[in-house]
Amino acid sequence: MKTINDQIPASGTLPDNYQEVLSWKLTGKPMRLIAMNILGVFLFVIFGFIFSWLAFRLGDLPSEGEIKLGPSEIGLVLAGVILTLVLHELTHGLAMQMFGAKPKYGILWQGMLYATSPGYAYRRNNYVVIALAPFVFLSILFVLGMWLLQGALWVALLGICGIFNAAGAIGDMWITTIVLRYPATAYVMDERDGMRVFSLAPPARAGVPKPRKTHQQADGVQNCDPMTNPTN
Ligand SMILES: [Zn+2]
Repeated sequence: MKTINDQIPASGTLPDNYQEVLSWKLTGKPMRLIAMNILGVFLFVIFGFIFSWLAFRLGDLPSEGEIKLGPSEIGLVLAGVILTLVLHELTHGLAMQMFGAKPKYGILWQGMLYATSPGYAYRRNNYVVIALAPFVFLSILFVLGMWLLQGALWVALLGICGIFNAAGAIGDMWITTIVLRYPATAYVMDERDGMRVFSLAPPARAGVPKPRKTHQQADGVQNCDPMTNPTN
Protein backbone atom coordinates (compact mmCIF):
# COMPACT_ATOMS: atom_id res chain seq x y z
CA MET A 1 0.00 0.00 0.00
CA LYS A 2 1.30 3.40 -0.95
CA THR A 3 1.58 5.93 1.82
CA ILE A 4 2.64 9.54 1.87
CA ASN A 5 6.05 8.34 3.10
CA ASP A 6 6.70 6.75 -0.28
CA GLN A 7 6.76 10.19 -1.89
CA ILE A 8 9.05 11.80 0.67
CA PRO A 9 12.45 10.10 0.67
CA ALA A 10 13.99 9.51 4.08
CA SER A 11 16.71 12.03 4.84
CA GLY A 12 19.95 11.03 3.20
CA THR A 13 18.40 8.94 0.43
CA LEU A 14 18.51 10.10 -3.13
CA PRO A 15 15.13 10.46 -4.92
CA ASP A 16 15.05 7.79 -7.65
CA ASN A 17 14.64 10.29 -10.52
CA TYR A 18 18.09 11.76 -9.80
CA GLN A 19 21.27 10.85 -11.66
CA GLU A 20 24.94 11.49 -11.02
CA VAL A 21 26.22 14.46 -13.01
CA LEU A 22 29.63 14.95 -11.39
CA SER A 23 32.20 12.96 -9.45
CA TRP A 24 34.99 15.25 -8.28
CA LYS A 25 38.04 14.67 -6.08
CA LEU A 26 40.65 17.15 -4.90
CA THR A 27 43.23 14.44 -5.46
CA GLY A 28 41.73 13.53 -8.85
CA LYS A 29 44.38 15.35 -10.89
CA PRO A 30 47.97 16.27 -9.87
CA MET A 31 47.47 19.79 -11.31
CA ARG A 32 44.42 20.23 -9.11
CA LEU A 33 46.43 19.43 -5.98
CA ILE A 34 49.20 21.84 -7.04
CA ALA A 35 46.66 24.60 -7.80
CA MET A 36 45.00 24.03 -4.43
CA ASN A 37 48.30 24.33 -2.58
CA ILE A 38 49.19 27.54 -4.43
CA LEU A 39 45.76 28.99 -3.65
CA GLY A 40 46.19 27.82 -0.03
CA VAL A 41 49.44 29.79 0.28
CA PHE A 42 47.70 32.80 -1.26
CA LEU A 43 44.87 32.51 1.31
CA PHE A 44 47.46 32.08 4.07
CA VAL A 45 48.96 35.47 3.19
CA ILE A 46 45.57 37.21 2.91
CA PHE A 47 44.23 35.79 6.18
CA GLY A 48 47.66 36.38 7.73
CA PHE A 49 47.14 40.09 7.17
CA ILE A 50 43.50 40.02 8.30
CA PHE A 51 44.11 38.09 11.55
CA SER A 52 47.27 40.08 12.38
CA TRP A 53 45.34 43.29 11.94
CA LEU A 54 42.55 41.91 14.17
CA ALA A 55 45.07 40.76 16.79
CA PHE A 56 46.55 44.25 17.12
CA ARG A 57 43.35 46.25 16.76
CA LEU A 58 40.64 44.12 18.34
CA GLY A 59 42.86 41.91 20.52
CA ASP A 60 45.07 44.80 21.62
CA LEU A 61 48.19 42.65 21.14
CA PRO A 62 51.17 44.69 22.38
CA SER A 63 53.31 45.64 19.37
CA GLU A 64 56.06 46.97 21.66
CA GLY A 65 58.30 44.71 23.67
CA GLU A 66 59.68 41.29 22.99
CA ILE A 67 57.67 38.17 22.32
CA LYS A 68 59.73 35.31 23.67
CA LEU A 69 59.83 32.38 21.26
CA GLY A 70 61.19 29.42 23.18
CA PRO A 71 60.45 25.69 22.86
CA SER A 72 57.36 25.98 25.07
CA GLU A 73 55.89 28.74 22.85
CA ILE A 74 56.59 26.74 19.70
CA GLY A 75 55.02 23.67 21.34
CA LEU A 76 51.97 25.72 22.26
CA VAL A 77 51.57 26.99 18.68
CA LEU A 78 51.95 23.44 17.32
CA ALA A 79 49.34 22.12 19.76
CA GLY A 80 47.03 25.01 18.89
CA VAL A 81 47.29 24.36 15.15
CA ILE A 82 46.68 20.60 15.53
CA LEU A 83 43.70 21.29 17.80
CA THR A 84 42.38 23.75 15.20
CA LEU A 85 42.58 21.12 12.43
CA VAL A 86 40.72 18.63 14.63
CA LEU A 87 38.07 21.24 15.53
CA HIS A 88 37.75 22.06 11.82
CA GLU A 89 36.80 18.46 10.96
CA LEU A 90 34.56 18.14 14.04
CA THR A 91 32.65 21.21 12.85
CA HIS A 92 32.11 19.59 9.43
CA GLY A 93 30.91 16.48 11.29
CA LEU A 94 28.54 18.41 13.56
CA ALA A 95 27.02 20.16 10.52
CA MET A 96 26.56 16.73 8.85
CA GLN A 97 24.84 15.50 12.03
CA MET A 98 22.60 18.58 11.97
CA PHE A 99 21.30 17.36 8.59
CA GLY A 100 20.72 13.83 9.84
CA ALA A 101 23.93 12.02 8.86
CA LYS A 102 26.27 9.96 11.05
CA PRO A 103 29.74 11.34 10.25
CA LYS A 104 32.91 9.25 10.13
CA TYR A 105 36.31 10.72 10.90
CA GLY A 106 39.72 9.66 9.74
CA ILE A 107 43.09 10.57 8.32
CA LEU A 108 44.35 10.14 4.75
CA TRP A 109 47.87 8.97 4.02
CA GLN A 110 48.83 12.54 3.03
CA GLY A 111 48.12 13.48 6.65
CA MET A 112 44.84 15.11 5.69
CA LEU A 113 42.13 14.79 8.33
CA TYR A 114 38.58 14.29 7.14
CA ALA A 115 34.98 14.00 8.23
CA THR A 116 32.65 12.26 5.81
CA SER A 117 29.30 10.49 5.53
CA PRO A 118 29.48 7.85 2.76
CA GLY A 119 26.36 7.54 0.62
CA TYR A 120 24.41 10.24 2.44
CA ALA A 121 22.67 12.64 0.02
CA TYR A 122 22.39 16.26 1.13
CA ARG A 123 20.38 19.02 -0.49
CA ARG A 124 22.78 21.37 -2.26
CA ASN A 125 22.32 24.27 0.16
CA ASN A 126 22.74 22.03 3.20
CA TYR A 127 25.99 20.77 1.71
CA VAL A 128 27.24 24.35 1.28
CA VAL A 129 26.55 24.89 5.01
CA ILE A 130 28.55 21.72 5.84
CA ALA A 131 31.45 22.82 3.61
CA LEU A 132 31.72 26.37 4.96
CA ALA A 133 30.76 25.74 8.61
CA PRO A 134 34.35 25.41 9.97
CA PHE A 135 35.60 28.50 8.13
CA VAL A 136 32.69 30.68 9.28
CA PHE A 137 32.03 29.25 12.76
CA LEU A 138 35.65 28.85 13.93
CA SER A 139 36.69 32.24 12.49
CA ILE A 140 33.95 33.89 14.54
CA LEU A 141 35.06 31.88 17.60
CA PHE A 142 38.72 32.92 17.25
CA VAL A 143 37.86 36.59 16.71
CA LEU A 144 35.53 36.49 19.72
CA GLY A 145 38.33 34.92 21.76
CA MET A 146 40.76 37.68 20.70
CA TRP A 147 38.29 40.28 21.83
CA LEU A 148 37.66 38.54 25.19
CA LEU A 149 41.40 38.05 25.90
CA GLN A 150 42.43 41.58 24.85
CA GLY A 151 45.99 42.47 25.75
CA ALA A 152 47.05 38.88 26.53
CA LEU A 153 49.59 36.93 24.46
CA TRP A 154 46.89 34.28 23.88
CA VAL A 155 45.56 36.69 21.25
CA ALA A 156 48.61 35.87 19.09
CA LEU A 157 47.91 32.13 19.36
CA LEU A 158 44.23 32.62 18.49
CA GLY A 159 45.31 34.67 15.47
CA ILE A 160 47.65 31.92 14.26
CA CYS A 161 44.90 29.30 14.70
CA GLY A 162 42.51 31.57 12.78
CA ILE A 163 44.97 31.82 9.86
CA PHE A 164 45.46 28.03 9.68
CA ASN A 165 41.73 27.35 9.86
CA ALA A 166 40.86 29.89 7.15
CA ALA A 167 43.70 28.97 4.77
CA GLY A 168 43.00 25.26 5.39
CA ALA A 169 39.43 25.82 4.19
CA ILE A 170 40.67 26.30 0.59
CA GLY A 171 39.33 22.87 -0.43
CA ASP A 172 35.96 23.64 1.17
CA MET A 173 35.74 26.97 -0.68
CA TRP A 174 36.71 25.34 -3.97
CA ILE A 175 34.06 22.62 -3.55
CA THR A 176 31.46 25.28 -2.68
CA THR A 177 32.08 27.18 -5.94
CA ILE A 178 31.62 23.92 -7.90
CA VAL A 179 28.49 22.82 -6.06
CA LEU A 180 26.89 26.26 -6.53
CA ARG A 181 27.02 25.82 -10.33
CA TYR A 182 24.24 23.25 -9.95
CA PRO A 183 20.61 24.12 -9.15
CA ALA A 184 19.41 24.23 -5.54
CA THR A 185 17.38 21.09 -6.27
CA ALA A 186 20.61 19.11 -6.75
CA TYR A 187 21.85 16.61 -4.16
CA VAL A 188 25.45 16.16 -3.03
CA MET A 189 27.20 13.17 -1.48
CA ASP A 190 30.43 13.81 0.40
CA GLU A 191 33.55 11.81 -0.37
CA ARG A 192 36.64 11.93 1.84
CA ASP A 193 38.43 14.28 -0.54
CA GLY A 194 35.69 15.36 -2.90
CA MET A 195 32.01 14.95 -3.63
CA ARG A 196 29.42 13.62 -6.09
CA VAL A 197 26.60 15.79 -7.44
CA PHE A 198 23.20 14.43 -8.48
CA SER A 199 20.67 16.30 -10.59
CA LEU A 200 17.08 15.69 -11.54
CA ALA A 201 16.98 13.39 -14.57
CA PRO A 202 15.38 14.89 -17.70
CA PRO A 203 11.61 14.20 -17.56
CA ALA A 204 10.34 11.47 -19.84
CA ARG A 205 8.13 12.90 -22.59
CA ALA A 206 4.53 11.65 -22.79
CA GLY A 207 4.44 8.35 -24.65
CA VAL A 208 8.24 8.20 -24.89
CA PRO A 209 9.81 5.86 -22.37
CA LYS A 210 12.49 7.30 -20.11
CA PRO A 211 15.89 6.66 -21.74
CA ARG A 212 17.76 3.91 -19.97
CA LYS A 213 21.43 4.07 -19.16
CA THR A 214 23.61 1.90 -21.35
CA HIS A 215 25.83 -0.66 -19.63
CA GLN A 216 28.85 1.42 -20.52
CA GLN A 217 27.37 4.52 -18.88
CA ALA A 218 26.22 2.61 -15.84
CA ASP A 219 29.56 0.94 -15.24
CA GLY A 220 32.06 3.62 -16.27
CA VAL A 221 32.79 6.77 -14.29
CA GLN A 222 30.85 9.26 -16.35
CA ASN A 223 31.12 12.95 -15.67
CA CYS A 224 28.42 14.64 -17.66
CA ASP A 225 28.18 18.36 -17.24
CA PRO A 226 24.59 19.64 -17.35
CA MET A 227 25.73 22.37 -19.74
CA THR A 228 26.64 19.78 -22.36
CA ASN A 229 23.66 17.61 -21.53
CA PRO A 230 20.56 19.54 -22.70
CA THR A 231 17.33 18.49 -21.10
CA ASN A 232 15.19 18.70 -24.25
ZN1 LIG B 1 37.21 21.62 5.71
